[in-house]
Amino acid sequence: MKIIVCIKQVPDTTEVRIDPVKGTLIRDGVPSILNPDDKSALEEALKIKETLGQDTTVTVITMGPPQAEEILREAMAMGADSAYLLSDRAFAGSDTWATSNAIAAAIKSIDNFDIVFCGRQAIDGDTAQVGPQIAQRLGMAQVTYVQSLKVEGRSIIVDRALEDGYETIEVNTPVLLTAIKELNTPRYMSMNGIFTAFKEKEIKVLGIKDIGLDPALTGLTGSPTQVRKSFTPEPKGKGEMLTGSVKEMSDQLVIKLKQKHLI
Ligand SMILES: Cc1cc2nc3c(=O)[nH]c(=O)nc-3n(C[C@H](O)[C@H](O)[C@H](O)COP(=O)(O)OP(=O)(O)OC[C@H]3O[C@@H](n4cnc5c(N)ncnc54)[C@H](O)[C@@H]3O)c2cc1C
Repeated sequence: MKIIVCIKQVPDTTEVRIDPVKGTLIRDGVPSILNPDDKSALEEALKIKETLGQDTTVTVITMGPPQAEEILREAMAMGADSAYLLSDRAFAGSDTWATSNAIAAAIKSIDNFDIVFCGRQAIDGDTAQVGPQIAQRLGMAQVTYVQSLKVEGRSIIVDRALEDGYETIEVNTPVLLTAIKELNTPRYMSMNGIFTAFKEKEIKVLGIKDIGLDPALTGLTGSPTQVRKSFTPEPKGKGEMLTGSVKEMSDQLVIKLKQKHLI
């Protein structure tokens, strides 16, 4: 079985701060990490490889600047077999549409994969759009919010998280799955893995020409969405606690809503 995992380098924070003047993300002083959901996706791919044996390969891919190589080496130190860095000026300024165009074209140019794994969402962009968009571009079935899975031949039995429970879905490969952190506890890099990943293993760099993508479909020109303004919302005023019986509290609430002309 051939598995590819899409991983993204993100700032190590859930509190993304915005430069009030430039309207861009403040990255200075914020270390970068492998996006947490992507780590779970990678862990699951490695577990499948351990179960099915050495015929199974795990490839990782990221689209980003040259420093995104760090997370590819981390992934190989965890156990991934090979790594691709999708990096070219032509990809700069991509929104999720343009990002998934580039990643899908890259995946197609590398091999036919049985499973494409993504995280549910990246902690910086937070849109959860890229995984489903890649599936669409590759014409693959997709199951999002995967919280557990079992491989049975060409079939995969997946528990997919819902707000108030889960649903079990059986799907055939090829399929794209998006992982949530409940799926597993990712392993640490091994000492031997660190040595080979950082000293011996090669990272293949792909540019736009290597993946045969029309430049009009990626980067700023290929991005139908443009950010007009980014800002940090004003902190909300202090909340007010209502006290008393349920009836007293609802009476007070109705009065307050009427005072604000909300009802
Ligand atoms: C309207 C808009 C405009 C934007 N404009 C710009 C811009 O001008 N410049 C800029 O640098 N960024 C820009 N971005 C951010 C950029 O589009 C996103 O970082 C990127 O598309 C990923 O989206 P996301 O972070 O929401 O990922 P999600 O959709 O939340 O990610 C889901 C999963 O997809 C996979 N994935 C996502 N991104 C990558 C990646 N790069 N490599 C490998 N796997 C990945 C991962 O498995 C991840 O867990 C913009 C985003 C939006 C929404």
